[in-house]
Amino acid sequence: MAGFIVTFDGEVCKGCELCAAFCPKGLIAPSDVINNKGYSPASISRQEECVGCQSCALVCPDGAVAIYKEGA
Ligand code: SF4
Ligand code: SF4
Repeated sequence: MAGFIVTFDGEVCKGCELCAAFCPKGLIAPSDVINNKGYSPASISRQEECVGCQSCALVCPDGAVAIYKEGA
């Protein structure tokens, strides 16, 4: 089964962690980098466990999340 790839726009993200709160798999957390606005943008771990539910993208107030189907 093809998996999903989730990416965050590191310069648009303001580190509000809403996406992390809504991920049913607990895959999202702030990264350890600081962007130009002074925020720690979101990042995903255990990418292979993503179920592609799109909750993270839907709750992001800044449209900073993109989800792709692997191989599509
Ligand atoms: S698509 Fe769903 S499972 Fe995947 S990272 Fe976003 S909220 Fe989590
Ligand atoms: S909801 Fe959007 S702005 Fe907030 S941490 Fe997640 S990606 Fe960044």
